[in-house]
Amino acid sequence: MSSVWVVLEERGGRISRISWEAAAAGQQLASQLNTKANALLIGSQTESFAAEAANKGLAKVVRVEHPLLDQYTADGFSLALEQFFRAESPDYVVFPHTYQVRDYAPALAARLNRVLISDVTAIGEGPAFTRQLMQGRLNGNYRPSGTGPCFLSVQSGAFRAETAEAGSAEVTTFTPEIAPEQIRTKPSEPFRGSAQTVDLGSAQFIVAVGRGIKEADNLSIVQDLAAALGAELAASRPICDNGWLPLERQVGSSGQTVAPKVYLAVGISGAIQHLVGMKGSQCIVAINKDPEAPIFEVADYGIVGDLFEVVPALTEALKSAKQ
Ligand SMILES: Cc1cc2nc3c(=O)[nH]c(=O)nc-3n(C[C@H](O)[C@H](O)[C@H](O)COP(=O)(O)OP(=O)(O)OC[C@H]3O[C@@H](n4cnc5c(N)ncnc54)[C@H](O)[C@@H]3O)c2cc1C
Repeated sequence: MSSVWVVLEERGGRISRISWEAAAAGQQLASQLNTKANALLIGSQTESFAAEAANKGLAKVVRVEHPLLDQYTADGFSLALEQFFRAESPDYVVFPHTYQVRDYAPALAARLNRVLISDVTAIGEGPAFTRQLMQGRLNGNYRPSGTGPCFLSVQSGAFRAETAEAGSAEVTTFTPEIAPEQIRTKPSEPFRGSAQTVDLGSAQFIVAVGRGIKEADNLSIVQDLAAALGAELAASRPICDNGWLPLERQVGSSGQTVAPKVYLAVGISGAIQHLVGMKGSQCIVAINKDPEAPIFEVADYGIVGDLFEVVPALTEALKSAKQ
């Protein structure tokens, strides 16, 4: 029977949201293969994370533990996982597409003479794994060939973290053999974004503004709407290029990828480079005066109208509904 493993990552004392998205992808893949997904955590003290993972509809949860895995190094993680996967011989290994995974997963795949199908956005029959090409203009479907594990990483926002199932899994520990001289790099303090950094990736509601707003002084109307909705403010690239909002609020191929419950696009045309960053949103609402704007092709709800009339009216309606 085929086996599927998901590698979960801890961030800031919790299993990260994108790891649960990877778990949901692993569970979807496993159900196509009539099996149950397994998961592993890697580090030196993974007990509490493993206990959290054990409630998530997984067959097994394994703690891959060693004192030399206390801090992340590409050598340590790829060595430890190579040993684990050589022993386990899985068919599929699903990673969240994080900076850390981008760093060590290609080396791990190369150690096992396999490729990594990175940034997967969907899993189809076969199974076939979909990746976006040419800034999202094309989708490519990839099928693994040969024998040995198929490694894949899933794009942030492509799978729903909340679809990860519930359950209770057995937790075991695997101790790899690692010698200090096998780790060629010395870890320093992990990178932490500055306190002001906006994590649009975890926002549930986003109001995004585009060039239709015309000038920086008009931004207050979308800021008011975002405040009334309890939403994060985001933008298309021209708004950030103009310096009207900081770059960390840009959504799209050269900005953040988001998957909120509601994405409200105000005066945004829907260029492909913007769409690749937000089309995984659960509900897309677009306000645009041009009925032919491409944003309406991905929108669940569309308002054709002048944003300078629609947005203040919406803000007022929200405020009075709360009273
Ligand atoms: C390599 C590369 C990377 C890129 N990366 C990104 C990226 O990460 N994110 C990104 O967003 N873009 C990116 N772009 C730019 C992208 O191609 C588009 O140019 C950009 O998304 C357009 O932004 P916009 O929709 O705000 O502006 P426009 O395309 O100018 O659209 C403005 C919209 O506002 C509407 N409008 C105007 N006035 C009103 C009004 N009064 N009421 C209602 N609607 C109104 C118009 O009908 C129009 O649809 C990238 C481009 C390249 C080449």
